[in-house]
Amino acid sequence: MNNYLRNTALVLTAAAVLTGCSSAPAQPAETAAADAGVSGEFESTVKGRNADMTVKTTFENSVITKVEVTNHQETSGVADGALEGVPAAIVENNSIAVDSVSGATITSEAIKLAVSNAITEAGLNVEDYQKAPEKQETSAEAEKLTADVVVVGAGGAGVSAALTALQEGADVILLEKSAVPGGVSVIAGGPMGIDSRLQKEAGVAGTFTVEEVLAYWQSYNAWMDDGMLFYNIASQSGETIDWLGENGMPFVFMGTEQAAHADGFPTYHIYADQENKAQYYVDVVNNFEAQGGKVYYQTAAYELKAENDKITGVKARSADGKEYDIDADAVILCTGGFGANADMIEEQVGFPLETFTTGTQTGDGATMSQAIGAGKGKTIQQYHGVTSYSGIQTGQGKDEIAKAIYLASSLWVNRRASRFAPEDLNYDTA
Ligand SMILES: Cc1cc2nc3c(=O)[nH]c(=O)nc-3n(C[C@H](O)[C@H](O)[C@H](O)COP(=O)(O)OP(=O)(O)OC[C@H]3O[C@@H](n4cnc5c(N)ncnc54)[C@H](O)[C@@H]3O)c2cc1C
Repeated sequence: MNNYLRNTALVLTAAAVLTGCSSAPAQPAETAAADAGVSGEFESTVKGRNADMTVKTTFENSVITKVEVTNHQETSGVADGALEGVPAAIVENNSIAVDSVSGATITSEAIKLAVSNAITEAGLNVEDYQKAPEKQETSAEAEKLTADVVVVGAGGAGVSAALTALQEGADVILLEKSAVPGGVSVIAGGPMGIDSRLQKEAGVAGTFTVEEVLAYWQSYNAWMDDGMLFYNIASQSGETIDWLGENGMPFVFMGTEQAAHADGFPTYHIYADQENKAQYYVDVVNNFEAQGGKVYYQTAAYELKAENDKITGVKARSADGKEYDIDADAVILCTGGFGANADMIEEQVGFPLETFTTGTQTGDGATMSQAIGAGKGKTIQQYHGVTSYSGIQTGQGKDEIAKAIYLASSLWVNRRASRFAPEDLNYDTA
């Protein structure tokens, strides 16, 4: 009797082999005729990216006909591609050997594990559901595209650059490696700003200058940051926050400096709705598309085209293997950091670091630039320290601990009073 011919009696007596998760029949398997295969619903609870998630798998005659994520706390926007795409791909291929969605790999793998558990729970053999989906036939010839500007990466920097270029009258293509926009920018609380409309309404605008904020931050960062870059960003920060608000990404003004940093000037703005901030990125990109911009998701740029020391375009490849050869007058690299690239961390930092990314920040912009001889001057790196406060709540000194760690004059020691890392890693402001 092969696994597709198992009958219900076998299903009901099958022992579930589960580790670190739970799985149970959501609905008793049908008492179908012997040899008809397994039919029924099986639920499994596994660890997702943020918390446990529950997935219900439906079999009809041992074929997976439905996969539903019935309960989860994954980050809206970041995980949407996986929550929708992975169940659909599993059903389409009757296989758990489907691709994970880049940018949401932990969520993708969790869904696959839950379905694998359901297969076991149903008394079926997981190996029978490991067939790799047939890849879509891709033409050897790359599709040729042209644009005035190609923006690579749809995080905070990329969506802003793409929409700005479009509104300035350029033909713009936006490439995003992940299935959704937002990148690490979705994780952030919000930006600093000087003289935003919100600060004007709060009566704060004009009470401090860009130069004062710059002097404060440079001192805070022990003069390790790039003053010119900071000045350019800071002097346009207020109008940028206003402009983002008008284009689908509203903020609120906090009236303070970000608590985890130090007692600086009141510059801190946060996304208006912290629960749904990922949706703001979708809204800005929708806005971009509605105004004529073109977006290619799950499409990673991998090579800059250059002739006579001039960038002439970029090559990109979609997750299903389709090639794009794009000619452009300008390519704007907004691929974020390299926190998801362990080799690059070792090379740049000298030892491994635990990082906080969405999995797609692999330093591609730097790699592509360096491959054509660029980007070998001063590189800007931001090591944004993240602190774990075991058992300490706000109001019990949490912010003071964070400030002490972030301040460049601090010495970092472990419980044996030994230094464990160079403190100048704490290069908090680009
Ligand atoms: C926990 C945490 C909290 C933070 N809080 C704050 C805060 O409160 N305020 C603040 O100002 N900053 C904060 N930061 C820092 C801030 O989030 C980042 O500096 C900023 O979001 C970086 O934006 P970005 O657009 O450069 O990168 P990202 O937002 O990461 O965007 C890069 C995009 O490029 C895509 N990509 C990568 N490679 C390719 C490729 N080859 N082809 C196509 N696409 C590609 C990625 O998928 C991604 O979508 C925080 C960071 C962390 C980790």
